[in-house]
Amino acid sequence: MVMSNMPNQSLPDYSLSPEQVPLVGSLALDDTERSRLKAQIAEKLEAQGAALIAHYYVDGDIQDLAEQTGGFVSDSLEMARFGRDHKAENLVVAGVRFMGETAKILSPEKRVFMPTLQAECSLDLGCPPEDFAQFIQAHPDHTVVVYANTSAKVKAQADWVVTSSCALEIVASLKAKGEKILWAPDKHLGAYIQSQTQADMLLWSGACVVHEEFKAKALTDLQRVYPDAGVLVHPESPASVIEIADAVGSTSAIIRAAKELPNETFIVATDRGIFHKLRRENPGKTFIEAPTAGDGATCRSCAHCPWMAMNELRNLDRLLTDASYRAGNEIHVEPKLGLRAKMPLDRMLAFQA
Ligand code: SF4
Repeated sequence: MVMSNMPNQSLPDYSLSPEQVPLVGSLALDDTERSRLKAQIAEKLEAQGAALIAHYYVDGDIQDLAEQTGGFVSDSLEMARFGRDHKAENLVVAGVRFMGETAKILSPEKRVFMPTLQAECSLDLGCPPEDFAQFIQAHPDHTVVVYANTSAKVKAQADWVVTSSCALEIVASLKAKGEKILWAPDKHLGAYIQSQTQADMLLWSGACVVHEEFKAKALTDLQRVYPDAGVLVHPESPASVIEIADAVGSTSAIIRAAKELPNETFIVATDRGIFHKLRRENPGKTFIEAPTAGDGATCRSCAHCPWMAMNELRNLDRLLTDASYRAGNEIHVEPKLGLRAKMPLDRMLAFQA
């Protein structure tokens, strides 16, 4: 059996170059304007019968609004489940495009909008559906497992969709059945899962531009400054960073670990949007960003996803106010494609139930 925790050598490198990652600047809003926009958005959500579903990485004001208006803040797995089960006919997904697409695939009868459809993901962009189809064709004896951070066209080619909350368990169960796995797109998460399960995995070579920038050497230097700090790491980070962690897991797992571990200080290697929730739920604890700087660093995202940062109060308000803007930021998935992509998503949700 050929086991590989390295990306498949016949594949090109699908990591994005720095030039392909947008630089996002945000005009700061003063407190009066923030409060005015938040009140206005809350009113419009209610008037339009819309549920706001936000990811932990988006702006803290949007996370608060989601919770205050009966919506939801979570990781991509629970966002998908909430959107599917909520009775609202209109869903507003504050996150990145694959999250909006997932909501639409699971609930084709609902209308799904996003503050901006320009909010992409380097993993999704780094897995072109046509190239992926060739990868599958070259390995017909493999079970195809794709991360949720992919387009509908990639999901529609998969046997399973997984998120970082459930990937380990699902791959372990496939391994127990003797299945060989073709994994895409995140090479770091794939390598981590392979190391934990010893599954026979062929890996696509994509990466998350945020997590890939965390630096092991700078992190160990920081540990010397905070020797009692616990280290919490998302598994999209490089193996050298994962090795240092006290807890490795999805955003939800990181939030749980921060509560359960006895440390009063934590160094956290994931998007800094999560600090809003971490600080809210652990007022007595201190959270420090894991370093993206250090020798050889070419920090582009600086621990904040440039696409998640595109979700702002202003474009969320515009979405709910301006009909033509709303029409341009509605998610559409071709029904036949959606039906095929729903199969591996339903399988994941049933596995977790
Ligand atoms: S943080 Fe990384 S994985 Fe998450 S949406 Fe941004 S680029 Fe994609």
